[in-house]
Amino acid sequence: MRRYRFVVDQARAAAECFGYHEMATPIFEFSEVFKRTLGDTSDIVTKEMYTFTDRGGETVTLRPEGTAGVARAFISGGLAQHLPLKYFYSGPMFRYERPQKGRLRQFHQTGIELLGVADPIGDVEIIATGVEFLRRIGAWERCYLEINSLGDAESRKAYRDVLVAYLSAHKDQLSKESLERLERNPMRILDSKDEGDRKIVADAPVYSDHLNEASRDFFQRVLAGLDALGIAYKINPRLVRGLDYYCHTCFEIISNDLGAQGTVMGGGRYDGLVGIMGGTETPGVGWASGVERCMMLLQQDPPARRPIALIPVGAAAERECLVLADQLRRLGLYAELGYSGNVGKRMKRANKLNARVAVILGDDELAKKVATLRDLDSGEQREIAMDALAQQLEAY
Ligand code: ATP
Ligand code: MG
Repeated sequence: MRRYRFVVDQARAAAECFGYHEMATPIFEFSEVFKRTLGDTSDIVTKEMYTFTDRGGETVTLRPEGTAGVARAFISGGLAQHLPLKYFYSGPMFRYERPQKGRLRQFHQTGIELLGVADPIGDVEIIATGVEFLRRIGAWERCYLEINSLGDAESRKAYRDVLVAYLSAHKDQLSKESLERLERNPMRILDSKDEGDRKIVADAPVYSDHLNEASRDFFQRVLAGLDALGIAYKINPRLVRGLDYYCHTCFEIISNDLGAQGTVMGGGRYDGLVGIMGGTETPGVGWASGVERCMMLLQQDPPARRPIALIPVGAAAERECLVLADQLRRLGLYAELGYSGNVGKRMKRANKLNARVAVILGDDELAKKVATLRDLDSGEQREIAMDALAQQLEAY
């Protein structure tokens, strides 16, 4: 949990610097919310959703991702008057997948959504937010950014026709799944993990050759923004997101350290999403990051808070320490009272907890109204008047 909290806290803190506010949406929604937004042919909808009927006969789904819920809340909350809006979220997601390293059935994502900004500066800024997050957890240095453009609706249609023509000529070599996608959602075939499909896809026409001028210009402005920020990227013309509502920018941030499950962040622009869900057409752009994969990239455990160890010698001192611990905690300090045992045993426990300092209190000290303060890093020891003790400890 310490690693988990560190990752999420850093994501939240980075997002806050860009003006994002946290939103929490329900862990389950009506299944329709995901079916509509992810598309009938996506992997998530066809194979990965945890869907069941509730007592009222409604079909509900444990959320597989965060964007649909944020968009649903945006629409049902009537927030369209307040654009632009920036939301940060984190929490559990559920997908019925084959569990393996970095791929879980209940996992966690943290993400951001920027609503109401159609300009490429929005795309640049959300990527910068993601990079800043990864920098803060010390992972960015070991990751790279891949980016591509999916163009606007017109480009998509033009490319779709070219792609279908090409794939249709290789029908006999496509997987059964891809054959089904050929009519309903041919772009998804580019994303196929099937070996045979991948061979065909390798020679498929490249999307970037079919972008119209407006889409090319949009992409150039995104790249120019990244250049200005010194964010390195690789253009990957084969990169398409698994979700159907993306347009223009799509990107992934990948780590070499995680093997096959190396993608730590995925995102892009989804201008069509809010409209598909029945809201006023609203441009959107965002990303989601897998918390468990980010945790795997941490070089070391985030440090635990170091306590002040209170070590009483004798019954009278024990009562005194109980009260002292209470006073210290009210000041927001972390005090550990080794509940029982002799001095040696309590000292050992203090060391195990990596205590910063020990306060030793025996009959002698009580009589003199002092305490012995031992710095456990340097071993240095001195007597402090009881009434100055709390103040002294605050400095640690
Ligand atoms: P993949 O191609 O690895 O299945 P995806 O396209 O399904 O990824 P997204 O839907 O874009 O992934 O989710 C964003 C991020 O969430 C991923 O980059 C990854 O870090 C994380 N993620 C997705 N699915 C899982 C999972 N089952 N377990 C752990 N993390 C996951
Ligand atoms: Mg997946």
